[in-house]
Amino acid sequence: MERNTRQQEAVLEALRRGREALTPAEILQRARASVPTLNLSTVYRRLGALLEQEQVAIVSLPGQPARYEAACEHAHGDPAHHHHHFHCTTCDRVFALHACPGSMKKLVPNGFRVDSHDLTLHGRCPSCKSGARA
Ligand SMILES: [Zn+2]
Ligand SMILES: [Zn+2]
Ligand SMILES: [Zn+2]
Repeated sequence: MERNTRQQEAVLEALRRGREALTPAEILQRARASVPTLNLSTVYRRLGALLEQEQVAIVSLPGQPARYEAACEHAHGDPAHHHHHFHCTTCDRVFALHACPGSMKKLVPNGFRVDSHDLTLHGRCPSCKSGARA
């Protein structure tokens, strides 16, 4: 039990450290520094538990493997909160953008009703833009 808690904290800590959404393999890489007993199946198990507790969220972008991110702390109490992502086309990392351009109502013709939207920006992250690859 004690051990599970430490593993779970290491997984959550890896996700909270950056603005980045991570694949389970990337989480393992980062979390292993603090909990060397972690392996990929324990990472998946801990992610499952964290999902149930709504401490992490799945990020699924078209054509991309599933990534995970820490639930937004600023979203507590606002079930309607959502945000978007930036995909770096050079290093393939995905970053959370805690912003939304707002209603897309203006984009649809009369008679249509917008219930939700997905938005992903593509480009280069700061380390790829400056040429200094991380
Ligand atoms: Zn990049
Ligand atoms: Zn957010
Ligand atoms: Zn939005």
